[in-house]
Amino acid sequence: MNKRLFLVIIFFSGLNFVQAQTSMKPVSTYNYNDAFAPFFYQQNGNEYRAASGEPGPKYWQNKADYKLEASLNEANNEITGTEILSYTNHSPQNLNFVWMQLDQNLFKEDSRGNAIVPINGSRNAGHGQKYDAGFKIQSVSVLYGSKNEIAKEVDYLIEDTRMQIFLPKSIAANGGKIKIKIKFSFISPDYGSDRTGVMPTKNGKIFCVAQWYPRVAVYDDVLGWNTAPYTGPGEFYLEYGDFDLAITASANMIVVGSGELMNPSEVYNKEQLKRWETATSSDQTILIRTPEEVEQAMQAPSSVKKLTWHFKIKNARDAAWAASSAFIIDAAKINLPDGKKSLAISAYPIESNGKEAWGRSTEYVKKSVEFNSAKWYTYPYPAATCVAGNVAGMEYPGIVFCGANAKTAGLMNVNDHEFGHTWFPMIVGSNERWYGWMDEGFNTFINTLSQADFNNGEYKNKEPINKHSIADYYTHPGLEPILSYVDNYKEKNNGTLSYRKPGEGLTLLREQILGKERFDRAFTTYINRWAFKHPTPDDFFRTIENVAGESLQWFWRGWFVNNWRLDVAVSEVTYVDSNDISKGALITIDNLEQMAMPVVLEIKLSSGKTERIKLPVEIWERNNSWTFKYNCAEAIQSVTYDPDKSMPDFNESNNTWTKK
Ligand SMILES: [Zn+2]
Repeated sequence: MNKRLFLVIIFFSGLNFVQAQTSMKPVSTYNYNDAFAPFFYQQNGNEYRAASGEPGPKYWQNKADYKLEASLNEANNEITGTEILSYTNHSPQNLNFVWMQLDQNLFKEDSRGNAIVPINGSRNAGHGQKYDAGFKIQSVSVLYGSKNEIAKEVDYLIEDTRMQIFLPKSIAANGGKIKIKIKFSFISPDYGSDRTGVMPTKNGKIFCVAQWYPRVAVYDDVLGWNTAPYTGPGEFYLEYGDFDLAITASANMIVVGSGELMNPSEVYNKEQLKRWETATSSDQTILIRTPEEVEQAMQAPSSVKKLTWHFKIKNARDAAWAASSAFIIDAAKINLPDGKKSLAISAYPIESNGKEAWGRSTEYVKKSVEFNSAKWYTYPYPAATCVAGNVAGMEYPGIVFCGANAKTAGLMNVNDHEFGHTWFPMIVGSNERWYGWMDEGFNTFINTLSQADFNNGEYKNKEPINKHSIADYYTHPGLEPILSYVDNYKEKNNGTLSYRKPGEGLTLLREQILGKERFDRAFTTYINRWAFKHPTPDDFFRTIENVAGESLQWFWRGWFVNNWRLDVAVSEVTYVDSNDISKGALITIDNLEQMAMPVVLEIKLSSGKTERIKLPVEIWERNNSWTFKYNCAEAIQSVTYDPDKSMPDFNESNNTWTKK
């Protein structure tokens, strides 16, 4: 063999060797310049919203106080009301019209929301019920005079679920006020997009009444008027203010509503009043209206035909109520930080009674509100009322509606979830119509903590959740990014994208990225900074980064802005000197998908001893593949990525390298 031929053979066999090596190396789609790109934020902080994520020195928002009177006709499900909206314009612009939300118009046959219901049906809109739906507006007036004695009717335009009111004189910038009076009526849908409805029971209908008065749209520094229509999926974006409610119903009915009942002595009988008083200082649930009293139809303290129930709630973005002759009522005191207290109340029919069901509702509500108050921010309302109806679960300030059929852990979960909404979006008033994940997802996250805590873990998951097995669910390629408008998600994806995936995002931040202490401080700061205000996603991202002291743009980008996947492989283990293991091992891991995360590896030695190695996310700042030296005195038996299965790594098959 001549030398030349020999070299050719070496060359080709060497090439084959390189090719073989390359084909064994898994293909990576990871691009570190994408994951760690600069300019995540599309605008800098300004005087309204600071770069640090807090409200800037010129932050403003408008205020909406409501005086609402309504009466219920239980025969035809009609609600007739009068609203006086006192609106204060703190914006730097004069406003010569006001946009209102007429959510009941969703249930009209020709609404946009009904038009987008697919053939196979939807949770949204009115389940196809055909009836005389929508708001009937009798009049819209602007009130003048020191006692609002002069009412001047004004023009308005209605387009789907919005109403534009044209003002004869604009509301002055920086504090101008106006009072608008609206007379309205509507017939309640039987099933109103799972947020309001009427449920028959053997002792009378249960009315869960919401989206029931024209609500002023938010005017903000982000979009001006927020006029996205109510089509069903996207929830609400509302101004804060004080509410005064007077609800008139037949005297055999109990009415519960947002806030404090102002006239219990006019609406409950003497015996019930005494029990009510006992409940305000009782940690045990006290029955106020018993099942026997429901069956005997005992209610009115006198022979009057109608009763008016008066409620007040302050600093709230909405008010809702429920009414029924079928309600059992019970209550218990809620203990809040600094010696404050509130009252947990449940209202449910005999069909839902029992210790396996709504007989424990008040206990669930009390514990949930106490936990979240101690952990995040004190519950701000005088009562927390939970109503059983045909709404599976829906939140309003100080009152929630939950499914009458819910039981045991399911009831605790839904009570805890709906009252968890007190923190998001009732306290932290984000724009739900656009960013459902900022209320549902953040709430889902706090629910994981309160539900694990409940009654020393009565309903806690016994096993830790295997995040590998749910990673595909969180990041499969058919999902839209979390950071989409809710109406932009496929309905089947909403549970993942609004609730579980963003909730898991916060758990990852807390448990894998920042640690509990830094995350909890940053998240509490976010709640405090934006309590009773209107944060945007950037305000959240910036606050977490600033308070925790960490750039997390790679994480926001991978989990929230994009639907990126995580797949890390342990690819290779060699020794610096195969004849002398004590010189150390070289361990190679590969990042195969677009997402980057910090790394935990468990190294098992031939003696059976194990050790864990943590590597920061920075290893992926300029590498798709990372090799590091591990000092060992004995041979390595195996190396396992994410041994606790706490990362959303969707491909577990390449997570462990084992010695052949
Ligand atoms: Zn929710």
